[in-house]
Amino acid sequence: MTFTLAIVGRPNVGKSTLFNRLVGKRLALVDDQPGVTRDLREGEARLGPLRFTVIDTAGLEEATDESLQGRMRKLTERAVEMADACLFLIDARAGVLPTDEVFADILRRKNAHVILAANKSEGRAAEAGLIEAWGLGLGEPLALSAEHGEGMAELAAVLTPIAEEMAERAARVAAEAPETDVSVSDEDDDEAVRKPTRARPLQVAVVGRPNAGKSTLINKLIGEERLLTGPEAGITRDSISLAFDWGDVPTRIFDTAGMRKKAKVQEKLEKLSVADGLRAVKFAEVVIVLLDAAIPFEQQDLRIADLAEREGRAVVVAVNKWDAERHKQEKLSELREAFERLLPQLRGAPLVTISAKTGKGLDRLHAAVMRAHETWNARVSTARLNRWLEGMVSAHPPPAPGGRRIRLRYMTQVKTRPPGFVVMCSHPDKLPESYSRYLINGLRDDFDMPGTPIRLHMRSQA
Ligand code: GDP
Ligand code: GDP
Repeated sequence: MTFTLAIVGRPNVGKSTLFNRLVGKRLALVDDQPGVTRDLREGEARLGPLRFTVIDTAGLEEATDESLQGRMRKLTERAVEMADACLFLIDARAGVLPTDEVFADILRRKNAHVILAANKSEGRAAEAGLIEAWGLGLGEPLALSAEHGEGMAELAAVLTPIAEEMAERAARVAAEAPETDVSVSDEDDDEAVRKPTRARPLQVAVVGRPNAGKSTLINKLIGEERLLTGPEAGITRDSISLAFDWGDVPTRIFDTAGMRKKAKVQEKLEKLSVADGLRAVKFAEVVIVLLDAAIPFEQQDLRIADLAEREGRAVVVAVNKWDAERHKQEKLSELREAFERLLPQLRGAPLVTISAKTGKGLDRLHAAVMRAHETWNARVSTARLNRWLEGMVSAHPPPAPGGRRIRLRYMTQVKTRPPGFVVMCSHPDKLPESYSRYLINGLRDDFDMPGTPIRLHMRSQA
Protein backbone atom coordinates (compact mmCIF):
# COMPACT_ATOMS: atom_id res chain seq x y z
CA MET A 1 0.00 0.00 0.00
CA THR A 2 1.37 3.28 -1.02
CA PHE A 3 0.03 6.80 -0.90
CA THR A 4 -0.56 9.73 -3.21
CA LEU A 5 1.09 13.09 -2.78
CA ALA A 6 -0.05 16.18 -4.69
CA ILE A 7 2.41 19.00 -5.26
CA VAL A 8 0.47 22.25 -5.22
CA GLY A 9 1.28 25.93 -5.29
CA ARG A 10 1.23 28.92 -7.60
CA PRO A 11 3.12 28.86 -10.91
CA ASN A 12 6.89 29.16 -10.84
CA VAL A 13 7.54 28.00 -7.29
CA GLY A 14 9.30 24.89 -8.57
CA LYS A 15 6.62 22.20 -8.65
CA SER A 16 7.79 20.64 -11.90
CA THR A 17 11.39 20.75 -10.84
CA LEU A 18 10.53 18.84 -7.69
CA PHE A 19 8.25 16.46 -9.55
CA ASN A 20 11.04 15.66 -11.98
CA ARG A 21 13.48 15.09 -9.15
CA LEU A 22 11.13 12.70 -7.40
CA VAL A 23 9.98 10.86 -10.49
CA GLY A 24 13.14 10.94 -12.59
CA LYS A 25 12.94 9.06 -15.87
CA ARG A 26 9.67 7.40 -14.96
CA LEU A 27 8.06 10.63 -16.07
CA ALA A 28 8.52 9.80 -19.75
CA LEU A 29 5.75 7.23 -19.59
CA VAL A 30 3.17 9.87 -18.77
CA ASP A 31 4.36 12.30 -21.40
CA ASP A 32 4.27 9.71 -24.15
CA GLN A 33 0.61 9.00 -23.71
CA PRO A 34 -1.41 10.86 -26.32
CA GLY A 35 -4.58 12.56 -25.24
CA VAL A 36 -3.69 12.58 -21.59
CA THR A 37 -4.56 15.83 -19.94
CA ARG A 38 -1.50 17.95 -19.49
CA ASP A 39 -2.94 19.66 -16.46
CA LEU A 40 -2.31 16.94 -13.94
CA ARG A 41 0.72 14.73 -14.32
CA GLU A 42 1.11 11.60 -12.31
CA GLY A 43 4.32 9.72 -11.69
CA GLU A 44 5.80 7.05 -9.49
CA ALA A 45 8.12 8.73 -7.01
CA ARG A 46 11.11 7.34 -5.19
CA LEU A 47 12.51 9.03 -2.16
CA GLY A 48 14.90 7.02 -0.01
CA PRO A 49 12.99 3.88 0.94
CA LEU A 50 9.61 5.44 0.09
CA ARG A 51 7.58 4.69 -3.01
CA PHE A 52 4.51 6.74 -3.73
CA THR A 53 2.42 8.34 -6.43
CA VAL A 54 3.00 11.99 -7.03
CA ILE A 55 0.66 14.39 -8.80
CA ASP A 56 1.97 17.59 -10.29
CA THR A 57 -0.39 20.51 -10.84
CA ALA A 58 2.02 22.50 -12.97
CA GLY A 59 1.32 23.24 -16.60
CA LEU A 60 -0.52 26.48 -16.05
CA GLU A 61 2.24 28.84 -16.98
CA GLU A 62 0.98 29.14 -20.50
CA ALA A 63 -2.45 30.23 -19.42
CA THR A 64 -2.33 33.98 -19.36
CA ASP A 65 -6.02 34.81 -19.48
CA GLU A 66 -8.10 36.03 -16.57
CA SER A 67 -9.34 32.58 -15.78
CA LEU A 68 -5.93 31.56 -14.51
CA GLN A 69 -6.94 31.91 -10.87
CA GLY A 70 -10.10 29.94 -11.41
CA ARG A 71 -8.32 27.19 -13.29
CA MET A 72 -5.61 27.01 -10.70
CA ARG A 73 -8.18 26.69 -7.99
CA LYS A 74 -10.08 23.92 -9.77
CA LEU A 75 -6.94 22.01 -10.58
CA THR A 76 -5.67 22.25 -7.03
CA GLU A 77 -8.99 21.17 -5.61
CA ARG A 78 -9.01 18.17 -7.91
CA ALA A 79 -5.47 17.24 -6.94
CA VAL A 80 -6.32 17.58 -3.24
CA GLU A 81 -9.25 15.24 -3.66
CA MET A 82 -7.11 12.65 -5.42
CA ALA A 83 -4.29 12.79 -2.90
CA ASP A 84 -3.72 11.53 0.63
CA ALA A 85 -1.47 14.47 1.38
CA CYS A 86 -0.44 17.72 -0.26
CA LEU A 87 2.97 19.23 -0.51
CA PHE A 88 2.31 22.95 -0.66
CA LEU A 89 5.26 24.80 -2.19
CA ILE A 90 6.05 28.45 -1.85
CA ASP A 91 9.09 30.24 -3.24
CA ALA A 92 11.32 31.16 -0.30
CA ARG A 93 13.10 33.80 -2.38
CA ALA A 94 9.89 35.58 -3.30
CA GLY A 95 8.36 35.21 0.16
CA VAL A 96 4.64 34.73 0.77
CA LEU A 97 2.58 36.35 -1.99
CA PRO A 98 -1.19 36.94 -1.96
CA THR A 99 -1.62 34.03 -4.39
CA ASP A 100 0.07 31.76 -1.87
CA GLU A 101 -2.58 32.78 0.65
CA VAL A 102 -5.26 31.76 -1.85
CA PHE A 103 -3.74 28.29 -2.00
CA ALA A 104 -3.43 28.08 1.77
CA ASP A 105 -7.14 28.90 2.00
CA ILE A 106 -8.09 26.18 -0.47
CA LEU A 107 -6.05 23.62 1.42
CA ARG A 108 -7.49 24.65 4.75
CA ARG A 109 -11.05 24.61 3.47
CA LYS A 110 -10.57 21.19 1.93
CA ASN A 111 -9.20 20.02 5.25
CA ALA A 112 -6.26 18.56 3.39
CA HIS A 113 -3.28 16.97 5.04
CA VAL A 114 -0.70 19.63 4.22
CA ILE A 115 3.06 19.68 4.29
CA LEU A 116 4.28 23.21 3.79
CA ALA A 117 7.61 23.62 2.04
CA ALA A 118 9.61 26.68 1.11
CA ASN A 119 11.42 25.87 -2.11
CA LYS A 120 14.51 27.57 -3.51
CA SER A 121 15.85 27.57 0.02
CA GLU A 122 19.49 27.17 -0.87
CA GLY A 123 21.53 30.14 0.36
CA ARG A 124 20.78 33.13 2.55
CA ALA A 125 18.37 34.85 0.17
CA ALA A 126 15.73 32.38 1.33
CA GLU A 127 15.78 33.02 5.06
CA ALA A 128 13.17 35.78 5.25
CA GLY A 129 10.77 33.82 3.07
CA LEU A 130 11.16 30.77 5.24
CA ILE A 131 10.14 32.74 8.30
CA GLU A 132 7.25 34.38 6.50
CA ALA A 133 6.00 30.92 5.65
CA TRP A 134 5.19 30.32 9.33
CA GLY A 135 2.54 32.98 8.93
CA LEU A 136 0.49 30.76 6.61
CA GLY A 137 -0.61 28.88 9.69
CA LEU A 138 0.18 25.50 8.18
CA GLY A 139 2.91 24.41 10.53
CA GLU A 140 6.65 24.46 10.34
CA PRO A 141 7.82 24.99 6.77
CA LEU A 142 10.25 22.52 5.33
CA ALA A 143 13.24 24.13 3.64
CA LEU A 144 13.74 22.57 0.20
CA SER A 145 15.77 23.16 -2.86
CA ALA A 146 14.26 21.13 -5.66
CA GLU A 147 16.98 22.22 -8.02
CA HIS A 148 19.87 21.36 -5.72
CA GLY A 149 18.28 18.36 -4.05
CA GLU A 150 18.42 19.87 -0.58
CA GLY A 151 15.93 18.93 2.14
CA MET A 152 15.06 15.59 0.56
CA ALA A 153 15.89 13.59 3.70
CA GLU A 154 13.67 15.93 5.72
CA LEU A 155 10.90 15.51 3.18
CA ALA A 156 11.24 11.74 3.45
CA ALA A 157 11.05 12.05 7.24
CA VAL A 158 7.73 13.89 7.19
CA LEU A 159 6.30 11.55 4.56
CA THR A 160 7.21 8.38 6.45
CA PRO A 161 4.46 8.62 9.09
CA ILE A 162 1.94 9.28 6.32
CA ALA A 163 3.09 6.17 4.49
CA GLU A 164 2.77 4.22 7.72
CA GLU A 165 -0.65 5.61 8.50
CA MET A 166 -1.89 4.65 5.05
CA ALA A 167 -0.50 1.14 5.42
CA GLU A 168 -2.12 0.83 8.83
CA ARG A 169 -5.43 2.14 7.58
CA ALA A 170 -5.39 -0.27 4.68
CA ALA A 171 -4.70 -3.14 7.05
CA ARG A 172 -7.53 -2.03 9.31
CA VAL A 173 -10.01 -1.69 6.48
CA ALA A 174 -9.00 -5.13 5.25
CA ALA A 175 -9.48 -6.56 8.73
CA GLU A 176 -12.86 -4.90 9.18
CA ALA A 177 -14.37 -5.61 5.83
CA PRO A 178 -15.17 -9.33 6.15
CA GLU A 179 -16.78 -8.77 9.54
CA THR A 180 -19.55 -6.47 8.47
CA ASP A 181 -22.10 -9.23 8.31
CA VAL A 182 -21.03 -11.10 11.40
CA SER A 183 -22.74 -10.43 14.70
CA VAL A 184 -20.67 -9.51 17.69
CA SER A 185 -22.29 -11.92 20.10
CA ASP A 186 -25.53 -13.83 20.34
CA GLU A 187 -27.05 -11.36 22.74
CA ASP A 188 -26.65 -8.49 20.37
CA ASP A 189 -28.24 -10.27 17.47
CA ASP A 190 -31.55 -8.48 17.62
CA GLU A 191 -30.27 -5.07 18.39
CA ALA A 192 -27.13 -4.69 16.41
CA VAL A 193 -27.65 -2.10 13.73
CA ARG A 194 -24.67 -1.87 11.49
CA LYS A 195 -23.72 1.23 9.72
CA PRO A 196 -20.95 1.45 7.19
CA THR A 197 -17.54 2.03 8.67
CA ARG A 198 -16.92 5.75 8.86
CA ALA A 199 -13.66 7.17 7.69
CA ARG A 200 -12.82 9.00 10.87
CA PRO A 201 -14.71 8.36 14.06
CA LEU A 202 -13.89 10.38 17.15
CA GLN A 203 -11.17 8.51 19.01
CA VAL A 204 -11.57 8.40 22.76
CA ALA A 205 -9.65 6.58 25.47
CA VAL A 206 -10.69 6.01 29.06
CA VAL A 207 -7.65 5.76 31.29
CA GLY A 208 -7.29 5.47 35.04
CA ARG A 209 -6.25 3.29 37.92
CA PRO A 210 -7.55 -0.23 38.25
CA ASN A 211 -11.04 -0.14 39.79
CA ALA A 212 -11.68 3.46 38.87
CA GLY A 213 -14.65 2.15 36.89
CA LYS A 214 -13.36 2.11 33.32
CA SER A 215 -15.16 -1.09 32.32
CA THR A 216 -18.35 0.04 33.99
CA LEU A 217 -18.21 3.35 32.14
CA ILE A 218 -17.52 1.81 28.75
CA ASN A 219 -20.23 -0.79 29.21
CA LYS A 220 -22.67 1.90 30.23
CA LEU A 221 -21.83 4.09 27.25
CA ILE A 222 -21.97 1.30 24.75
CA GLY A 223 -24.88 -0.44 26.41
CA GLU A 224 -26.98 2.68 26.24
CA GLU A 225 -26.08 3.33 22.67
CA ARG A 226 -25.88 0.62 20.12
CA LEU A 227 -22.86 -1.55 19.81
CA LEU A 228 -21.97 -1.32 16.16
CA THR A 229 -18.99 -3.58 16.04
CA GLY A 230 -17.45 -5.95 18.49
CA PRO A 231 -13.95 -6.06 19.86
CA GLU A 232 -11.46 -6.08 17.07
CA ALA A 233 -7.81 -5.57 16.52
CA GLY A 234 -6.89 -1.93 16.77
CA ILE A 235 -3.81 0.16 16.41
CA THR A 236 -1.50 -2.39 17.97
CA ARG A 237 -1.66 -6.14 17.97
CA ASP A 238 -3.31 -6.53 21.36
CA SER A 239 -5.32 -3.37 21.70
CA ILE A 240 -9.08 -3.38 21.68
CA SER A 241 -11.26 -0.58 20.47
CA LEU A 242 -15.02 -0.46 20.20
CA ALA A 243 -17.07 1.51 17.73
CA PHE A 244 -20.40 3.02 18.69
CA ASP A 245 -22.43 6.16 18.21
CA TRP A 246 -22.06 8.40 21.22
CA GLY A 247 -25.13 10.56 20.90
CA ASP A 248 -24.97 11.02 17.17
CA VAL A 249 -21.20 11.09 16.97
CA PRO A 250 -19.46 8.04 15.52
CA THR A 251 -16.93 7.17 18.17
CA ARG A 252 -14.22 4.63 18.70
CA ILE A 253 -13.35 4.01 22.31
CA PHE A 254 -10.12 2.45 23.38
CA ASP A 255 -10.81 -0.19 25.98
CA THR A 256 -7.83 -0.60 28.28
CA ALA A 257 -9.89 -2.54 30.79
CA GLY A 258 -10.78 -5.13 28.19
CA MET A 259 -7.15 -5.43 27.24
CA ARG A 260 -6.22 -6.10 30.80
CA LYS A 261 -8.74 -8.87 31.12
CA LYS A 262 -7.50 -10.35 27.91
CA ALA A 263 -3.93 -10.24 29.20
CA LYS A 264 -4.94 -12.05 32.42
CA VAL A 265 -2.05 -10.65 34.39
CA GLN A 266 -3.77 -9.94 37.65
CA GLU A 267 -0.66 -9.55 39.77
CA LYS A 268 0.83 -6.92 37.50
CA LEU A 269 -2.25 -4.77 37.34
CA GLU A 270 -0.65 -1.51 38.41
CA LYS A 271 2.29 -1.72 36.08
CA LEU A 272 0.27 -2.92 33.16
CA SER A 273 -2.35 -0.24 33.47
CA VAL A 274 0.26 2.46 32.95
CA ALA A 275 1.48 0.73 29.80
CA ASP A 276 -2.15 0.37 28.67
CA GLY A 277 -2.67 4.00 29.49
CA LEU A 278 0.24 5.04 27.34
CA ARG A 279 -0.98 3.03 24.39
CA ALA A 280 -4.49 4.35 24.83
CA VAL A 281 -3.26 7.93 25.04
CA LYS A 282 -1.36 7.57 21.79
CA PHE A 283 -4.45 6.22 20.09
CA ALA A 284 -6.85 8.87 21.34
CA GLU A 285 -7.84 12.35 20.30
CA VAL A 286 -9.63 12.91 23.58
CA VAL A 287 -8.49 11.19 26.78
CA ILE A 288 -10.93 10.75 29.64
CA VAL A 289 -8.92 10.50 32.84
CA LEU A 290 -11.21 8.58 35.14
CA LEU A 291 -10.76 9.12 38.88
CA ASP A 292 -12.38 7.32 41.77
CA ALA A 293 -14.04 10.01 43.92
CA ALA A 294 -13.01 8.14 47.05
CA ILE A 295 -9.31 8.15 46.15
CA PRO A 296 -8.77 10.87 43.55
CA PHE A 297 -5.44 12.14 42.24
CA GLU A 298 -3.31 9.20 43.27
CA GLN A 299 0.23 9.07 41.93
CA GLN A 300 -0.82 6.84 39.07
CA ASP A 301 -3.67 9.15 38.06
CA LEU A 302 -1.28 12.07 37.96
CA ARG A 303 1.18 10.19 35.82
CA ILE A 304 -1.44 9.21 33.28
CA ALA A 305 -2.91 12.72 33.15
CA ASP A 306 0.54 14.20 32.67
CA LEU A 307 1.24 11.70 29.93
CA ALA A 308 -1.91 12.72 28.09
CA GLU A 309 -0.91 16.37 28.28
CA ARG A 310 2.62 15.71 27.10
CA GLU A 311 1.32 13.68 24.18
CA GLY A 312 -0.80 16.69 23.25
CA ARG A 313 -4.21 15.08 23.66
CA ALA A 314 -7.41 16.83 24.65
CA VAL A 315 -8.16 15.87 28.24
CA VAL A 316 -11.37 15.59 30.25
CA VAL A 317 -11.17 14.62 33.90
CA ALA A 318 -14.13 12.55 35.06
CA VAL A 319 -14.65 11.85 38.76
CA ASN A 320 -16.51 8.58 39.05
CA LYS A 321 -18.65 6.96 41.76
CA TRP A 322 -20.23 10.32 42.54
CA ASP A 323 -23.38 8.44 43.61
CA ALA A 324 -21.51 7.15 46.65
CA GLU A 325 -20.33 10.60 47.69
CA ARG A 326 -22.17 12.05 50.70
CA HIS A 327 -20.87 15.60 50.92
CA LYS A 328 -20.91 16.53 47.28
CA GLN A 329 -20.41 20.29 47.60
CA GLU A 330 -17.38 20.11 49.89
CA LYS A 331 -15.94 17.27 47.91
CA LEU A 332 -16.22 19.20 44.68
CA SER A 333 -14.32 22.23 45.99
CA GLU A 334 -11.69 19.90 47.41
CA LEU A 335 -11.34 18.23 44.03
CA ARG A 336 -11.03 21.51 42.16
CA GLU A 337 -8.36 22.72 44.56
CA ALA A 338 -6.41 19.47 44.27
CA PHE A 339 -6.72 19.53 40.48
CA GLU A 340 -5.28 23.02 40.24
CA ARG A 341 -2.44 22.23 42.62
CA LEU A 342 -1.47 18.80 41.33
CA LEU A 343 -2.08 19.20 37.61
CA PRO A 344 -1.30 22.83 36.75
CA GLN A 345 -0.34 21.72 33.25
CA LEU A 346 -3.98 20.79 32.65
CA ARG A 347 -5.37 24.11 33.79
CA GLY A 348 -8.71 24.72 32.18
CA ALA A 349 -9.45 21.06 31.47
CA PRO A 350 -13.04 20.24 32.38
CA LEU A 351 -13.77 18.28 35.54
CA VAL A 352 -17.01 16.34 35.36
CA THR A 353 -18.58 14.30 38.14
CA ILE A 354 -20.26 11.11 36.99
CA SER A 355 -21.64 7.80 38.08
CA ALA A 356 -20.74 5.11 35.59
CA LYS A 357 -23.02 2.79 37.51
CA THR A 358 -26.22 4.85 37.39
CA GLY A 359 -25.38 6.79 34.23
CA LYS A 360 -25.77 10.13 35.96
CA GLY A 361 -23.61 12.87 34.48
CA LEU A 362 -22.82 10.99 31.27
CA ASP A 363 -24.58 13.64 29.19
CA ARG A 364 -22.28 16.25 30.72
CA LEU A 365 -19.30 13.99 30.03
CA HIS A 366 -20.42 13.76 26.41
CA ALA A 367 -20.68 17.53 26.12
CA ALA A 368 -17.26 18.04 27.72
CA VAL A 369 -15.61 15.51 25.40
CA MET A 370 -17.13 17.08 22.27
CA ARG A 371 -16.14 20.52 23.43
CA ALA A 372 -12.58 19.46 24.23
CA HIS A 373 -12.29 17.86 20.80
CA GLU A 374 -13.52 21.04 19.19
CA THR A 375 -11.00 23.27 20.94
CA TRP A 376 -8.28 20.75 20.21
CA ASN A 377 -9.03 21.38 16.53
CA ALA A 378 -9.57 25.12 16.91
CA ARG A 379 -7.85 27.73 14.80
CA VAL A 380 -7.50 31.42 15.62
CA SER A 381 -6.89 33.84 12.78
CA THR A 382 -3.55 35.60 12.62
CA ALA A 383 -5.22 39.02 12.61
CA ARG A 384 -7.09 38.30 15.85
CA LEU A 385 -4.00 36.82 17.45
CA ASN A 386 -1.89 39.84 16.73
CA ARG A 387 -4.49 42.26 18.06
CA TRP A 388 -4.64 40.09 21.15
CA LEU A 389 -0.84 39.94 21.48
CA GLU A 390 -0.65 43.72 21.40
CA GLY A 391 -3.12 43.94 24.26
CA MET A 392 -1.27 41.31 26.29
CA VAL A 393 2.07 43.05 25.81
CA SER A 394 0.79 46.49 26.73
CA ALA A 395 -1.00 45.12 29.79
CA HIS A 396 2.13 43.37 30.95
CA PRO A 397 5.29 44.12 28.95
CA PRO A 398 8.00 41.49 28.77
CA PRO A 399 11.10 42.09 30.90
CA ALA A 400 14.11 44.08 29.75
CA PRO A 401 17.20 42.04 30.62
CA GLY A 402 20.26 44.30 30.63
CA GLY A 403 18.09 47.29 29.81
CA ARG A 404 16.99 45.96 26.40
CA ARG A 405 13.35 45.13 26.15
CA ILE A 406 12.41 41.83 24.53
CA ARG A 407 10.14 42.58 21.61
CA LEU A 408 7.29 40.29 20.66
CA ARG A 409 6.71 41.15 17.04
CA TYR A 410 4.30 38.77 15.48
CA MET A 411 2.26 35.75 16.34
CA THR A 412 0.57 33.05 14.36
CA GLN A 413 -1.06 29.69 14.94
CA VAL A 414 1.05 27.09 13.21
CA LYS A 415 -0.89 23.95 14.03
CA THR A 416 -3.98 22.35 15.53
CA ARG A 417 -4.56 19.04 17.35
CA PRO A 418 -3.44 20.50 19.76
CA PRO A 419 -3.25 24.22 18.97
CA GLY A 420 0.34 25.40 18.53
CA PHE A 421 1.51 28.99 18.20
CA VAL A 422 4.72 30.69 17.20
CA VAL A 423 5.71 34.10 18.50
CA MET A 424 8.48 35.89 16.64
CA CYS A 425 10.53 37.77 19.15
CA SER A 426 13.94 39.24 19.84
CA HIS A 427 16.06 37.13 22.22
CA PRO A 428 13.62 34.26 22.75
CA ASP A 429 16.15 32.57 25.01
CA LYS A 430 15.93 35.48 27.47
CA LEU A 431 12.16 35.43 27.77
CA PRO A 432 11.27 33.88 31.13
CA GLU A 433 9.10 30.80 31.29
CA SER A 434 6.59 32.75 33.37
CA TYR A 435 5.93 35.04 30.41
CA SER A 436 5.13 32.08 28.16
CA ARG A 437 2.76 30.83 30.84
CA TYR A 438 1.14 34.26 30.99
CA LEU A 439 0.52 34.09 27.24
CA ILE A 440 -0.70 30.48 27.30
CA ASN A 441 -3.13 31.18 30.13
CA GLY A 442 -4.29 34.29 28.32
CA LEU A 443 -4.90 32.33 25.11
CA ARG A 444 -6.87 29.76 27.05
CA ASP A 445 -9.07 32.35 28.72
CA ASP A 446 -9.52 34.85 25.92
CA PHE A 447 -10.10 32.35 23.12
CA ASP A 448 -12.00 29.93 25.31
CA MET A 449 -9.91 26.83 24.84
CA PRO A 450 -10.63 24.44 27.70
CA GLY A 451 -9.48 20.86 27.73
CA THR A 452 -6.64 21.12 25.27
CA PRO A 453 -2.91 21.50 25.72
CA ILE A 454 -1.57 24.66 24.11
CA ARG A 455 1.92 24.78 22.65
CA LEU A 456 3.75 28.07 22.37
CA HIS A 457 7.11 28.45 20.64
CA MET A 458 9.29 31.51 20.73
CA ARG A 459 11.43 32.09 17.65
CA SER A 460 13.93 34.73 16.86
CA GLN A 461 13.40 36.72 13.74
CA ALA A 462 16.34 36.52 11.35
P1 GDP B 1 6.35 25.37 -11.42
O1 GDP B 1 5.71 26.38 -12.30
O2 GDP B 1 5.88 25.54 -10.00
O3 GDP B 1 6.25 23.97 -11.89
O4 GDP B 1 7.92 25.77 -11.36
P2 GDP B 1 9.14 25.16 -12.17
O5 GDP B 1 9.51 23.83 -11.64
O6 GDP B 1 8.87 25.27 -13.61
O7 GDP B 1 10.28 26.17 -11.72
C1 GDP B 1 10.19 27.56 -11.94
C2 GDP B 1 11.59 28.16 -11.95
O8 GDP B 1 12.19 28.05 -10.66
C3 GDP B 1 12.52 27.46 -12.92
O9 GDP B 1 13.33 28.42 -13.54
C4 GDP B 1 13.36 26.56 -12.02
O10 GDP B 1 14.63 26.33 -12.56
C5 GDP B 1 13.44 27.38 -10.76
N1 GDP B 1 13.65 26.54 -9.57
C6 GDP B 1 13.00 25.43 -9.24
N2 GDP B 1 13.46 24.92 -8.06
C7 GDP B 1 14.45 25.76 -7.66
C8 GDP B 1 15.33 25.77 -6.52
O11 GDP B 1 15.32 24.91 -5.64
N3 GDP B 1 16.19 26.83 -6.41
C9 GDP B 1 16.23 27.82 -7.36
N4 GDP B 1 17.10 28.80 -7.17
N5 GDP B 1 15.44 27.81 -8.45
C10 GDP B 1 14.56 26.80 -8.61
P1 GDP C 1 -11.86 -0.75 36.07
O1 GDP C 1 -10.87 -1.63 36.74
O2 GDP C 1 -11.38 0.65 36.01
O3 GDP C 1 -12.35 -1.26 34.77
O4 GDP C 1 -13.12 -0.69 37.09
P2 GDP C 1 -14.51 -1.48 37.04
O5 GDP C 1 -15.40 -0.92 36.00
O6 GDP C 1 -14.23 -2.94 37.00
O7 GDP C 1 -15.14 -1.04 38.44
C1 GDP C 1 -14.49 -1.31 39.68
C2 GDP C 1 -15.52 -1.33 40.79
O8 GDP C 1 -16.11 -0.04 40.97
C3 GDP C 1 -16.67 -2.29 40.51
O9 GDP C 1 -17.00 -2.93 41.72
C4 GDP C 1 -17.79 -1.36 40.06
O10 GDP C 1 -19.06 -1.87 40.36
C5 GDP C 1 -17.51 -0.12 40.88
N1 GDP C 1 -18.05 1.08 40.23
C6 GDP C 1 -17.80 1.47 38.95
N2 GDP C 1 -18.46 2.62 38.68
C7 GDP C 1 -19.12 2.97 39.82
C8 GDP C 1 -19.98 4.06 40.17
O11 GDP C 1 -20.28 4.96 39.38
N3 GDP C 1 -20.47 4.08 41.44
C9 GDP C 1 -20.17 3.12 42.34
N4 GDP C 1 -20.71 3.23 43.55
N5 GDP C 1 -19.37 2.08 42.04
C10 GDP C 1 -18.86 1.99 40.80
